[in-house]
Amino acid sequence: MAFYQIPGQTKIVNSFRQLVDESRVPHSILIHERPGGSGLAIAIHLARMLLCENRQGGDPCDECPQCVKTMQHAHPDMHYVFPNNTNSRFKRAEQRFSDNFYPEWREALTQHPFLTLAEWYKRIDIEKKQGFIGDEDVTSVRKKLTLRAHGGRYRVFIIWHAEKMNHSFANKILKNLEEPTDKTVFILITSTPALLLPTIVSRVQIFKEEIISEEELAHFLVRQFDASENQARISANRSEGNVSKAIKHVFEEEEPWLKEFQVWMRLAYSRDLEGLLKWSDKMSKNTRDEQKYFCEEALIIIDRCYRMAWLNSEINSPGDEAKFFRDFSPFINIANAQGFLHLLEEATKDIQSNLNQKIVWFDSSIKAIRLIHSGKKTAAQNEEHS
Ligand SMILES: [Zn+2]
Repeated sequence: MAFYQIPGQTKIVNSFRQLVDESRVPHSILIHERPGGSGLAIAIHLARMLLCENRQGGDPCDECPQCVKTMQHAHPDMHYVFPNNTNSRFKRAEQRFSDNFYPEWREALTQHPFLTLAEWYKRIDIEKKQGFIGDEDVTSVRKKLTLRAHGGRYRVFIIWHAEKMNHSFANKILKNLEEPTDKTVFILITSTPALLLPTIVSRVQIFKEEIISEEELAHFLVRQFDASENQARISANRSEGNVSKAIKHVFEEEEPWLKEFQVWMRLAYSRDLEGLLKWSDKMSKNTRDEQKYFCEEALIIIDRCYRMAWLNSEINSPGDEAKFFRDFSPFINIANAQGFLHLLEEATKDIQSNLNQKIVWFDSSIKAIRLIHSGKKTAAQNEEHS
């Protein structure tokens, strides 16, 4: 694969080009990306523009010694900070900083910079924990700041998922964001700036990622991931602007959680309480992020069914999936669509809290029985009237 491109986002990339041209790049930047967006790809592009010796039309030349190094994610003046934690290799708290995970990070970026947090946690084997950016990382950043830039040009620090900074890191890094070191640029990336300390937000210049059109996203999937036209169109349509999700769909035969959702609905339809209890137990053993992801996917499925049956909207799906949507969509209607949306939103909230997750799922399952049967009743009445 050629060095990846950024899908869409001409506006934000153009403003960075102009700022680099005019040597007016702010020293503390926050890229407010969309969920599953291109924040990291944009940050890397900006860093490469700052480091390249011979930009072409505003972009990195890809050929100078600086570009060769940035393309291998091995430039000594380009630093990354990302959520991490202790794992089987680094067991001690003082080993908990980004540099220790650079091999895995480089490997991930070599594939593409649209990875999700869950995928990253899996790579560094901390799936069952939550990653964060803490004290050990601030010590490492400060050490690097005392050294001179190797290339004599810029030094760039990219902080991925800045919302995962703990208070200690955030409070300590504030000073560096406030009092710039010469030719040093901090680029923070997050899709949830509301989770950052207000003092951080007030010290950075914010650049917002724009929503990407389905067409642009599909085009990107064909160009960058060799997807077929049809596959790209389906994936772009399903993922609703979420680039990470769209890429995932291209590589997966079917929607990751669709099977699970089908099992759940079948059990609820047949009022199989014992089956639902087992299902809830199994579901609660997934990580919180996975359970939240299931809720997100289920919301999309419900929404799609509703649109399909009642608004006669055309949905792109391959064979087996199309059959499920055709068979199931009549059961999602005016009687229960809102109820399902509410149920899944509540479940998402409860999963984040300290409630017993098996109970959350069993409780949701009981509600799902009632909802699916009220939908069935309305579907039957509609059948009679038509
Ligand atoms: Zn270059």
